[in-house]
Amino acid sequence: TNETKSRSEGPNMNIGLVDAKIGQVVTRFPPEPSGYLHIGHAKAAMLNQYFAQLYQGKLIVRFDDTNPTKEKAEFEESIKEDLTLLGIHADQITYTSDHFDELYEYALKIITKGLAYVDDTDVATMREQRMDGIVSKSRDLSVEENLKRFQEMKEGTEFGLTCCLRAKIDMSNPNKALRDPVIYRCNLLEHHRTGNKWKLYPTYDFACPIVDSIEGVTHALRTNEYHDRNAQYYWILDALELRKVHIWDFSRMNFIYTLLSKRKLQWFVDQKIVSGWDDPRFPTVRGIRRRGLTVEALKQYILMQGASQNDVMLEWDKLWALNKKIIDPIAPRHTSILSDNIVKTKILGGPEKPYEKEIPKHKKNPDVGTKHTTFASNILIEQEDAKTFEIGEEITLMDWGNAIVKAINKFEENPEIVKTLELQLHLEGDFKKTKKKITWLAETASIIEVTLLDYDYLINKKKLEDGDDVKDYVTKTTEFRATAFADANVRHLKKGETIQFERRGYYIVDVEAATTLIRIPDGKATMMASKAT
Ligand code: ATP
Ligand code: MG
Ligand code: MG
Repeated sequence: TNETKSRSEGPNMNIGLVDAKIGQVVTRFPPEPSGYLHIGHAKAAMLNQYFAQLYQGKLIVRFDDTNPTKEKAEFEESIKEDLTLLGIHADQITYTSDHFDELYEYALKIITKGLAYVDDTDVATMREQRMDGIVSKSRDLSVEENLKRFQEMKEGTEFGLTCCLRAKIDMSNPNKALRDPVIYRCNLLEHHRTGNKWKLYPTYDFACPIVDSIEGVTHALRTNEYHDRNAQYYWILDALELRKVHIWDFSRMNFIYTLLSKRKLQWFVDQKIVSGWDDPRFPTVRGIRRRGLTVEALKQYILMQGASQNDVMLEWDKLWALNKKIIDPIAPRHTSILSDNIVKTKILGGPEKPYEKEIPKHKKNPDVGTKHTTFASNILIEQEDAKTFEIGEEITLMDWGNAIVKAINKFEENPEIVKTLELQLHLEGDFKKTKKKITWLAETASIIEVTLLDYDYLINKKKLEDGDDVKDYVTKTTEFRATAFADANVRHLKKGETIQFERRGYYIVDVEAATTLIRIPDGKATMMASKAT
């Protein structure tokens, strides 16, 4: 049913558009400015850009602004910024609202052709009738009567406001999208671009095919949830004798434990469950970027499953694993020690006075640069490590060398917990022969305290079903805070920089002055919802 050459052959990337001529393809990404872009929108935008570039054609970004109830200029601005962040560059930016005059003319035309009627049936009855295939009492009104009623809609008269314009297609068609869909409705709210000029607005179903056709779109990419509406799309183009546009369906992006709907995300914002649209727990472009996802990883991931028609629930882990491959070779490496239950450690044979040495920030990539590491005879190590030591055991202090455990002092009250340690430096020792590579920090005034944040999924059900109420599935605790000491170099990191804390994981700087870092999932079951209840 889909107009592609062959979806089953070869890698997804090689799948082409039907009837695509080099230099003549025009695609479009049509966001409604009713919220911030999420990862699903990113997929739609990237696929549109991919095909426009593949055929050396053109990408239109069209603000689909036909519903003043939901839309705001604020959202339009954020969408533009997010597209730039994603590396999406429109060859042309358009607005459905720029075509309101023309769309109105097309509405008159479709009425005049006897292919639409103005219905004053109330919404609930209309919905029932569409379900049951019952014809409306207004279906056979004359063209004159319809034009008169449509004028009342335009003026927003008391009667006009009870009406909507419906395409006269087929009330008994098994495809319910063809059962006389609403194509114009009244709305008295001010439109963020056209103000109070209009009291009636085209629906997406009517505006989309017309605007696609008149803006020169050759291939309209749509998520396959619209598949049933393809016939309606073509019907409208035929009815108005407009140039045909190819529709190319692709699968909607869905992730486990994730809501991808602007309306539902708005609910989390309104309930103050999240800090805003850029919350690191959000699947918005801003949220995932803030959590440390690179645009490169997102792009690779999206193009990898590009043309898939399967409406599967995707796992975040695969995306984060891809991201890890990208950041690992370039993320500078630093040291952190969780600050609860820290173990003060004396280094026998260590330096009399602390000294600094310049060492590479990344062992395998000298391009990452160098950092200053302080060496001293008093160091701090983590309780988790200290607990495992045995007297006489040889371990390796990372970036320093081997040492032998000489003394382990425990708390009398709680012998499970190590209070202090003594290690004898043994720099001749072979670090390849030790099992334990230990992170440590010199106990000097220069170490800094940082806050480490990690997150769980906002909801604790993999996939919400239609009848489910989001409220019943909100995860109780989704933010986890820990404090740690970090090496002094961390002080100079800027917001948005990605690092690795050795043996802990990848982090992105969220607040530079207060030194807050967010854990970047690495795909190794680091997302916690499996534990969530
Ligand atoms: P939402 O319900 O989140 O508001 P929408 O489809 O109503 O989504 P639009 O702004 O109208 O939002 O969508 C713009 C484009 O993004 C459309 O082409 C739409 O099909 C596509 N899109 C939206 N959500 C997804 C998704 N989860 N996966 C892939 N594409 C999506
Ligand atoms: Mg939409
Ligand atoms: Mg939607």
